[in-house]
Amino acid sequence: MIYLKSDEEIELLRNSNLIVAKTLAELAKIIAPGVTTLQLDKRAEEFIRDNGGVPNFLGYGGFPGSICTSVNDEVVHGIPSDKVVLKEGDIVSVDCGVLKDGFNGDSAYTFCVGEVDPDTISLLRTTKESLYKGIEQAVEGKRIGDIGFAVQSYCEERGYSVVREMVGHGVGRSLHEAPEVPNYGKRGNGITLKSGMTIAIEPMINLGTHRIIFESDGWTTRTADRKPSAHFEHSVAIRGGRADILSSFEFIEQVLGEREF
Ligand code: MG
Ligand code: MG
Repeated sequence: MIYLKSDEEIELLRNSNLIVAKTLAELAKIIAPGVTTLQLDKRAEEFIRDNGGVPNFLGYGGFPGSICTSVNDEVVHGIPSDKVVLKEGDIVSVDCGVLKDGFNGDSAYTFCVGEVDPDTISLLRTTKESLYKGIEQAVEGKRIGDIGFAVQSYCEERGYSVVREMVGHGVGRSLHEAPEVPNYGKRGNGITLKSGMTIAIEPMINLGTHRIIFESDGWTTRTADRKPSAHFEHSVAIRGGRADILSSFEFIEQVLGEREF
């Protein structure tokens, strides 16, 4: 069942995503060598609650954190921990969700910790660009496969690989709704996109193999070859011939200044 949202509901989703966007920017301010991912989690939870939201990842399926923090070869769903100390040269994907007024925001950004090697920077840049290639396809009349095709072809042409096991999703009153939004696919395949659909598009792109392994903690996923993985996510509403991006990287970019990630 795919729920189509009214204009009012889309504005509630935008409000929730605004808190997500500002939370990610708060974390951008403190990400540095020596900081633990648990410190990021605590800051995120505090900021979300101070802004009238609820961290919707906390307790979701038993998840113990308010955000997911996935470092280097971790793909997604990394658990914040005081044992994970960020160090110079790391990358950390932060995935954040907020429930407010009955609607869920969901967005992710991958940050650099200090100076990061150029090959990894290129992976981040391509992954972020591929997100916007996917978003361009999120318009009425296109198919879900058009989004996946756009992401996959953009990344594979540049030598990267697309994670298959995890996908984007519808988002609304539930954090994860139908339809699934894969980052791979064939043009013209899958359900037809309609106005009022709201989806999270979230490429998970690897430097090496697309294969991943699931860690014994029940959450963390990691690349099978231990090479880095990047993750960027926006929540998007389909409004006729226009993709309306409900989340935002604008606040992150204000914090990062000259830095890209
Ligand atoms: Mg997310
Ligand atoms: Mg998501």
